[in-house]
Amino acid sequence: LAAQGVEAHPMLRLTELKLPLDHASEAMLPAIAARLGVGEAQILRHAVAKRGNDARRKNAIQLVYAVDVTLSPQDEAEVLARLAGDTHVRPTPDTSYRFPVRAPEGWQAGEGERPVVIGAGPCGLLAGLILAQMGLRPIIIERGKAVRERTKDTWALWRKSVLTPESNVQFGEGGAGTFSDGKLYSRIKDPRHLGRKVLVEFVKAGAPDDILTEAHPHIGTFRLVTMVMSMRETIEKLGGEYRFGTRVDDFAVETDAAGERRLAGLHLSNGEYLPARRVIMAVGHSARDTFEVLYNRGVHIEAKPFAIGVRIEHPQSLIDQARYGACAKHPILGPAAYALAHQASNGRSVYSFCMCPGGRVVAAASEEGRVVTNGMSQYSRAEFNANSGLVVDITPERDFPGHPLAGIALQRHWEERAFVAGGSNYQAPGQKVGDFLAGKPSSAFGSIVPSYQPGVHLTALEECLPDFVTDALREALPVFGRQMAGYDHPDVVMTGVETRTSSPVRITRGKDLQSLNTRGLYPAGEGAGYAGGILSAAVDGIRAAEALAQDLLAG
Ligand code: FAD
Repeated sequence: LAAQGVEAHPMLRLTELKLPLDHASEAMLPAIAARLGVGEAQILRHAVAKRGNDARRKNAIQLVYAVDVTLSPQDEAEVLARLAGDTHVRPTPDTSYRFPVRAPEGWQAGEGERPVVIGAGPCGLLAGLILAQMGLRPIIIERGKAVRERTKDTWALWRKSVLTPESNVQFGEGGAGTFSDGKLYSRIKDPRHLGRKVLVEFVKAGAPDDILTEAHPHIGTFRLVTMVMSMRETIEKLGGEYRFGTRVDDFAVETDAAGERRLAGLHLSNGEYLPARRVIMAVGHSARDTFEVLYNRGVHIEAKPFAIGVRIEHPQSLIDQARYGACAKHPILGPAAYALAHQASNGRSVYSFCMCPGGRVVAAASEEGRVVTNGMSQYSRAEFNANSGLVVDITPERDFPGHPLAGIALQRHWEERAFVAGGSNYQAPGQKVGDFLAGKPSSAFGSIVPSYQPGVHLTALEECLPDFVTDALREALPVFGRQMAGYDHPDVVMTGVETRTSSPVRITRGKDLQSLNTRGLYPAGEGAGYAGGILSAAVDGIRAAEALAQDLLAG
């Protein structure tokens, strides 16, 4: 084909091609031919670009493909003209990444000109990688430890109830998503296919290559750890530099000749002052002390909505059965996920959040005397329970008015209540759904054993949740039980509290991605309120790196 020039020829992308779950691989060619109205012999090549499934009808589950199809140039032109009104037949998009700018060979930074990235989570990691690939040798500053050492500290909370405030599930190399399910999808608008660039870099760093074709890819914790190390090596080889165990404690802001506020440098926790005129701030949603410093330095910051609730655990087999019926455990489908939503009569939305099939609930606190839940899994998703956040929306106007940082105070309040309700030893407070619905504390587990470590203390969850949240959850659970048999089974266990669903603040930026009132500061990722999840945070990191590089190299 290459000899005939076919490789260079753009392809067609056929989307929403549906085939039965158990179709033979030979069934694809005739299905494509029928859908495009061409003979099988006209199809020179085809390759799966994405595969998902449609399980709305349990007894007729279908696989849903996007397929790239190569025809001869004449055939392709004919098909495109004939199917011009068909939105599922289009030229294959060009998803390759192009750097908008690159540093000239031998580029040397003047004082304060070397770009700095604060935070080595998905946003900071991709920002650092792109800057390094552009030849701009970034400095990456991370308050937590390198990922291997961080892993030990994280496990110390889970196994021995010892929390290290600077090295835990939220803080350290890899950021908040390192000990996670590693779900890698997002609903962001992505016209430049930056998500693809992220996935390609993850595969280069050791992620399984099925993440490039699965509609709902995930990586799991162990692989994330090695990937993050491999990406660090790449950044360092390109001249980038990491500083672990170093927290940015303050921001030096000057007023320039034109009367504009401009970032001049960073005060670090080791006492050093680092001159820095362009800084990507990718600190994640748990950097509460850093948000306070920014507020005190007059950086524009506002409160934003987030959600609060519990983690709920079911046997994975129950979820598989409810979603896939007789096809449960089918190897192509894997452990089932779900997404549920209900509009409660008190005006609140209740929804499932960050669902982790075959995983475990984890202790996700980063501050002493507080308890927070979240979920993780391994690539195999083979653990006994499924877990998901079950959360209720809250807004600044209604629930924490008056101050840009009021959402943080609210999070802290309920996390402290959860610590006390759990027995003041980092166990999570928990309750069975049957007792929760009946309004009485739980005293013994039923058939479902929760996975949270260092343990679950049975109690009444209303001790550590606002009334409007418990009211909305009590209304939603039976509704969800009607949608998924067994969802509200009396033995199902809920643990709390889930408070870090997204950032409680937005560090607002302009079109140039710089802070509204502080030039040189590029707030990015989840903490800045511009992403929610690994993939969207990483994409935002690329965008921030590009904006910074364009500004730097234009000067
Ligand atoms: P973060 O990942 O939070 O990284 C911020 C980094 O900045 C941290 O490493 C922190 O130590 C550092 N930092 C903070 N302040 C400072 C400072 N002052 N100085 C220096 N360094 C600082 N998302 C998904 O898409 N899929 C999932 O399956 C998933 N599961 C999750 C499971 C768990 C247990 C958790 C906690 C989160 C999960 N998430 C998941 C959410 C996801 O991890 C976040 O959305 C994502 O990590 C945000 O990326 P970020 O780079 O913006 O911030």
